[in-house]
Amino acid sequence: MLIVKKFGGSSVADKDRIYNVARRCIEEYEKGNEVVVVLSAMGKTTDGLIAKAREINPNPPKREMDMLLATGEQTSVALMSMAMSALGVPAVSLNAAQVAMHTTSAYGMAKLKRIDTERIRHELDARKIVIITGFQGINKYDDITTLGRGGSDTTAVALAAALHADACEIYTDVDGVYTADPRIVPNARKLAEVSYDEMLEFASLGAKVLHNRSVEMAKRYGVQLVVLSSLTRAEGTIIKEETKVERMLVSGVAADKNVARISVIGVKNEPGIAFKIFNLLARHHINVDIIIQSIGREERKDISFTVARTDLQEAMTLLNENREVLTAQTIACEEGVAKISIIGAGMTSNPGVAAKMFESLYSANVNIKMIATSEIRITVLIAEEDVNRAMRTVHDAFDLAD
Ligand code: ADP
Ligand code: ASP
Ligand code: MG
Repeated sequence: MLIVKKFGGSSVADKDRIYNVARRCIEEYEKGNEVVVVLSAMGKTTDGLIAKAREINPNPPKREMDMLLATGEQTSVALMSMAMSALGVPAVSLNAAQVAMHTTSAYGMAKLKRIDTERIRHELDARKIVIITGFQGINKYDDITTLGRGGSDTTAVALAAALHADACEIYTDVDGVYTADPRIVPNARKLAEVSYDEMLEFASLGAKVLHNRSVEMAKRYGVQLVVLSSLTRAEGTIIKEETKVERMLVSGVAADKNVARISVIGVKNEPGIAFKIFNLLARHHINVDIIIQSIGREERKDISFTVARTDLQEAMTLLNENREVLTAQTIACEEGVAKISIIGAGMTSNPGVAAKMFESLYSANVNIKMIATSEIRITVLIAEEDVNRAMRTVHDAFDLAD
């Protein structure tokens, strides 16, 4: 069997954790399996590197940022290979350039396009454990790129697809996917199985247990994933196309604090304005989520929407530079907001679900600023300070607890 095993930052945070992972991988190797290991940077290394960059330059060139961040993963793979070597097992570490993991050129948010498997195959054939840097790639200029925060999960899934792996295991600091973040909702319940579509909503709406693009890729290539703990032997959560578990009306609650609201106020009430705003943002790779347009009053109307807080500054600069073309009177923003969402494939055609969510927020005295819905999710924008309380309240209202 060929097994891809990915370990996140907390699983390789220090010497003991690195040896723990090394031993678990060796166990698999000694059963006769081929083992490919994907690692994140140790602990909070990536955050530390971002802070260091900001100290030098508050607005660092994106290319140099990727050059810097990629060092985190390179450190982990080298140390892991040294640990395995100390334990007497042949291993080799490879970075994205050595493997050749080709991505698009957008620094900081590159997408994996193609992975050369020759070098990896060669090392596996020599009976080595192959340890590969997560989160990074190279673009057509041979520059280092990164895949966005949390992107090591996507590296693992892409490798599993490219190598036709028999299993893709994502090890983290919780033992599976829960009905809500177990650190915020202590009585959250572990899910045995989650469908790709639900997991994609979970991940996109803030449950960072998996990178959303990793789920997208797993669905596209039919890679079955297991999320499990690197510290226990508990059974994890399986993510696959169809789940045999009975469809719950609502499977879980997710929260996202990386959110800000922008209001483009007093734009002309004429065709083409929304196009101009969102086209401008899209051209700069800025994602927009909840959008509300007010009913026009006379000649003017307002358009409000949310973006990731990490994109706020860039979005505000762009909009202000183009204020006249957009016909806006003012452009305002608000940072202290968060999204909370309920997710469930069984939600379609169940009109009571939204009302129940809103009732529970009302009973907790949480004010709703914006609402968005799709077939399998309902999202509300609320004040950031209310988010943890709101999550627990909504989780209880849908009886999701153990
Ligand atoms: P890693 O470093 O291993 O990639 P992450 O921090 O990216 O780990 O993701 C794991 C974290 O995701 C958990 O510690 C947990 O707080 C958070 N999380 C958010 N939502 C969920 C959920 N529904 N189920 C499990 N974990 C969740
Ligand atoms: N080290 C990167 C991050 O912290 C990638 C990852 O952990 O998946 O975002
Ligand atoms: Mg992660």
